[in-house]
Amino acid sequence: MAAALRLGLTGGIGSGKSTVASQWVKLGARLIDADVLARATTAAGGAAIPKIREVFGPALLSAEGALDRDKMRQLAFTDATARARLEAIVHPLVGDAIAQAAQQATAAGATHIVFDIPLLVESAHWRRNLQQVMVVDCTTETQIQRVMQRNGLSRAEVENIMAAQTSRTQRLRAADVVLFNDGIHLDELALQVQQIAKQFGL
Ligand code: ADP
Repeated sequence: MAAALRLGLTGGIGSGKSTVASQWVKLGARLIDADVLARATTAAGGAAIPKIREVFGPALLSAEGALDRDKMRQLAFTDATARARLEAIVHPLVGDAIAQAAQQATAAGATHIVFDIPLLVESAHWRRNLQQVMVVDCTTETQIQRVMQRNGLSRAEVENIMAAQTSRTQRLRAADVVLFNDGIHLDELALQVQQIAKQFGL
């Protein structure tokens, strides 16, 4: 079985990353979305739940047995170590889930796998294990405008989210391929994706 081409996809909030990811899927790539897999680990019956119960106690779980995100956020305000302890449980399990999904995709005959991984730039592991890193980029002002419109948030709320993310400069430094999604129509973005996909044999 030929190994699939492993492409990383990242971008700040509002950059157009989800739009680009779905265009790759339309072209026939397999998408592995780390956020979706992360949420599955903390849903009822998820792989992280037994350990969360052990480390934080049952009070952090909802009646259905999922991680109670509101309670977790409250705890993180008063306990500076809580978030790191949660991540220490969740991250390795997400890593396992991603590896398993990639194996399944390859076994099913996928030739191109796109890994949508929010922390890709920060992760030496992922940088080593991907053949190409694609970054969807736009100006910070465009990000702010798109997310205000899409999520109905204020400028300050969007700026807060962006401040907690990797900077645009760091992301661009990690890029093998940049999709500049600013001042262009969605059709032109789709065309850029098509061209890159063709270059990568899809
Ligand atoms: P991300 O996943 O990076 O947060 P999305 O792909 O959801 O971003 O895009 C954010 C919003 O901006 C969406 O509503 C999307 O439709 C819109 N958008 C993205 N790129 C463009 C573009 N080139 N032209 C117009 N709207 C765009």
